[in-house]
Amino acid sequence: MSVNLLKMFACVLAVAACTQSEPPTEAIEAGKGLPEVYTVNYPLAYFAERIAGESVTVVFPAPPNVDPAFWSPDAETIADYQQADLVLLNGAGYAGWLQRATLSQSRLIDTSGAMTDQLIAVDDTVTHSHGPGGDNSHQDMAFTSWLDMEFAAGQARTVFGSLVRLLPENEPDYRERLHELEKDLGELDTRLKVVAERIGDQPLVFSHPVFQYLARAYELNGRSVHWEPDETPGDDQWRELFELLSAHNAAWMIWEDEPLPDTVSRLEGMGIESLVFRPCGNRPAEGSLVSVMLDNVMALERAFPAAAHQHWQ
Ligand SMILES: [Zn+2]
Repeated sequence: MSVNLLKMFACVLAVAACTQSEPPTEAIEAGKGLPEVYTVNYPLAYFAERIAGESVTVVFPAPPNVDPAFWSPDAETIADYQQADLVLLNGAGYAGWLQRATLSQSRLIDTSGAMTDQLIAVDDTVTHSHGPGGDNSHQDMAFTSWLDMEFAAGQARTVFGSLVRLLPENEPDYRERLHELEKDLGELDTRLKVVAERIGDQPLVFSHPVFQYLARAYELNGRSVHWEPDETPGDDQWRELFELLSAHNAAWMIWEDEPLPDTVSRLEGMGIESLVFRPCGNRPAEGSLVSVMLDNVMALERAFPAAAHQHWQ
């Protein structure tokens, strides 16, 4: 928190203490007055928080137990989005509720807008539930774009640009923090490229069609089934996997979250190990986007270790 802001708080609280007419929470709210930046997923909230620091209020209102890609906010929350100074969108058809809501175009920022030629089209006609009130199928475009660290950095630069237009006087600070963020994403990118080099062409199975950008950016030979980590796969789903494996002899399955132990055992019996790579579309219980991505990278590094003995020529 800046010194000025602290002074402002102190003033507001002092006034509140003298008059004793207002409860302290209202006094604190009166002292806020910062521009509000709403986002449709956690990665964008993280980018805005990293770049803008305490100069704006970043709000990502989805509850922690939903996939924000398929979440539908209630009318009250949509009203909150409508009064925001900026709304950061992921693009690629992410958050279908946007098509049914009226938001001021001038405040909407499509963070993939400068990179639409790099979006990945998908042909996914499978319908299934993504939780209460959620849409029941994947869309025409793959949307987990931030799993390509270079694409993520591009989205972060668009977030930066929109924040600078909102508060131009903060550009030097924002630029410095953007560079720090780009450095973190760049380090993840490098480590992913190194481990991907070791993985090479080895066939992989993805548990859910959300790893398209990861696979493209790091040249992974992955094919996807449509399983949920917390649901026991049905006979049809196992059959689908057997069919896939007949042409794609994978030894690893990459999950978006911790799979059920019984599923892990049955896969092990088929010679398939499981590892978790969390897309982190929603706010993690612990850590940040970068720390979760680092955990993901380390899971890959453990699964595909560097040769124990390096023989340097
Ligand atoms: Zn799905």
